[in-house]
Amino acid sequence: MTDKKKIVVLTHGGAGSDPAHAAGTAIAGQMSMMSLQTGEPIIGAACHAVASLEDDGRFNAGVGSHKRNDGTVEMDASCMDSSGTFGAVAALEGFKNPVRVARIVSQSEYRVLAGRGAAEFARNQGCQTLSPDEIANTGKDFSTTDTVGCVVRSGDEFAAALSTGGIDNAIPGRVGDVPLIGCGLYAGPLGAVAATGDGEAIAMQVTALRAYQLIEQGMDPKAIVPTAIGWFKESTAFGIIVVSKIGFAGGSNRDMAWTASELEIPH
Ligand code: ASP
Repeated sequence: MTDKKKIVVLTHGGAGSDPAHAAGTAIAGQMSMMSLQTGEPIIGAACHAVASLEDDGRFNAGVGSHKRNDGTVEMDASCMDSSGTFGAVAALEGFKNPVRVARIVSQSEYRVLAGRGAAEFARNQGCQTLSPDEIANTGKDFSTTDTVGCVVRSGDEFAAALSTGGIDNAIPGRVGDVPLIGCGLYAGPLGAVAATGDGEAIAMQVTALRAYQLIEQGMDPKAIVPTAIGWFKESTAFGIIVVSKIGFAGGSNRDMAWTASELEIPH
């Protein structure tokens, strides 16, 4: 009998995103699946999905990022895998795919780069910049808060990635949960978690690490999702996707575009 490896990819368009935009999260998931099948490392596969959502324009990330209250666009992104790789950027301006910059940070001697230094790093690495037209049009038509995110399982490995334009109309320099390890995302040998919603509340709950600890305790993701939603007041937008060796689940106390796909491939 051929040994089979289970691949699972979940993608979300953020708490408050329109479920009618789930075609975007499904395409992003397929990008991730395809890259895994071509032998890409799992963290790269999670970042591919998030980059696809950053390019979509209907979500609050990349070219869809909301503006700050002074009209500027600052973005946060992060990625992590179960081997302990982590990288993030905060308040990054002018780049098309912040998650790709976060991925390069994860391969550097640094874990989080912010602001001017993050932009200089991205420029030196040849990362693609946003055109003046793209900057003028970012987040034009959508005003809910919706980070994009992905969690991936490939056999015994797990990864997560996130990207956001932050909360609408926040002051420049505001950084949410996304680049904070264990807050917006966490990945370990037993699973991966990606959150979305009110970044201040998500950070104060150390949400992703606590959800991961429930995985460690043997809880099914289908139970973890409502448990984590219960950590937040109804008035606080929150959503989460979770994958573990037991299964996967996603949910939000708002509308949320999210999709999951699974596949078994020969080892
Ligand atoms: N969590 C993100 C932030 O606070 C926003 C979101 O998920 O919609 O920056």
